[in-house]
Amino acid sequence: MIVLLDNGHGALINGKYQTAGKRKDWLDKGIIYEGEFNRAIVNGIIEQLTYYKIPYVNIAPEYWDVRLETRVKRANKFPSNNCFYLSIHSNAGGGKGSEVFTSPGDTKSDKIATAFGEEYHKVFPNRILRTDFSDGDLDKERRFYVLTKTKMPAILTENFFMDNFEEFDSILNTKEGRQKIIDFHVSAIIRTKVEIFKESFP
Ligand SMILES: [Zn+2]
Repeated sequence: MIVLLDNGHGALINGKYQTAGKRKDWLDKGIIYEGEFNRAIVNGIIEQLTYYKIPYVNIAPEYWDVRLETRVKRANKFPSNNCFYLSIHSNAGGGKGSEVFTSPGDTKSDKIATAFGEEYHKVFPNRILRTDFSDGDLDKERRFYVLTKTKMPAILTENFFMDNFEEFDSILNTKEGRQKIIDFHVSAIIRTKVEIFKESFP
């Protein structure tokens, strides 16, 4: 099993953010750029996957904003039966908690999403997972481009809200909070490898 890691949006190059919007300036309390956060989480996942010798691909290692079409094209070069696509984001628009998205329909993605939701609950027992059980499982289903155009199972995590000050201040903008987000993703990746792809670990 190869994990295809997608760090949503662009990052900062010489202090200049490469993506319009997708940030929240809390003035004297700090600032969050979603693309920087997404890369911090993906880089933390990469550190642990390297340690555990779990194969991965960083789909967008560039700091500029790689187009969704390009990300999907890169992903679709990999054999779809032997990998899954994991897109990392942080939410905005008012709200709290986290979400795990898959494309509509009951696929392998739903089983993977369930593992991510369960590991999230273990690491953040007092935090909300915004769920939708209408289809029988915890993930929310959306026609996001990277979820519908990828050939392999694909999920997208929205990790808390950048524009919720409490979540920004206690999780998204702290080393400990970011590490916990990395940790639940890595636990879920290991579970996916063992329980869904039926591979041995370590
Ligand atoms: Zn995003």
